Amino acid sequence: MYFLNKNMNKHEGIIRCLSLSMIVIASGLFISLPFFKNTKIEKPERHESASCMSNLDQLCRPDTKERQWEYIVIHHSATAKGNAARFDYYHKKTRGWEYGLAYHFVIGNGSFSGDGEVEVGNRWKKQIHGAHTANMNCNRVAIGICLVGDFENGGAPTDNQFESLVNLVQYLSRKYNIPSSNILEHKDIHQKATACPGKNFPFAELKTRLLQVASKSNNHKEL
Ligand SMILES: [Zn+2]
Repeated sequence: MYFLNKNMNKHEGIIRCLSLSMIVIASGLFISLPFFKNTKIEKPERHESASCMSNLDQLCRPDTKERQWEYIVIHHSATAKGNAARFDYYHKKTRGWEYGLAYHFVIGNGSFSGDGEVEVGNRWKKQIHGAHTANMNCNRVAIGICLVGDFENGGAPTDNQFESLVNLVQYLSRKYNIPSSNILEHKDIHQKATACPGKNFPFAELKTRLLQVASKSNNHKEL
């Protein structure tokens, strides 16, 4: 090491290096601590990070040739708790649906999967039609996304669920050229009356967020 003086043996040099590194690390930690009560720690913006999009790219990669998806339909589970495996079991055993889980994606609320965790169903991996609306023509071309929770009789999606939904819908709509007008709530499909995804689901906010994200990324492209 070029900065060792001649009298210093190798071990002393290593020890000195380690001590210096410890001091640098410790001072870094010290500086990063919030000293003042009002110090606001900004959360990183999750919805636009490149890593998030590449994660989705990996997560949403089907095992087979992709279908021509034209719509995205949003649902709630109408249950306080759940995850993809539980709904899959219910749809297979109780409903008797061969392909199980009716949706392509499930977004957890922290009950039986992570808060905001996106689970990918077998129907997506195998590019099988959904069973998430009573309209079979719709199921053939509509990606079904279910958020765990009861947004009719309970509260609203968690912040993490909503962020994950914005990211997922943005990703899928870009990839399959699905226009904003084809992003629907289950209750928009006039086949069988339903409140899904519930009166507390912030659909207008979702549309606004998607528009904002789209216009931001268009601005980036123009630069
Ligand atoms: Zn529904």
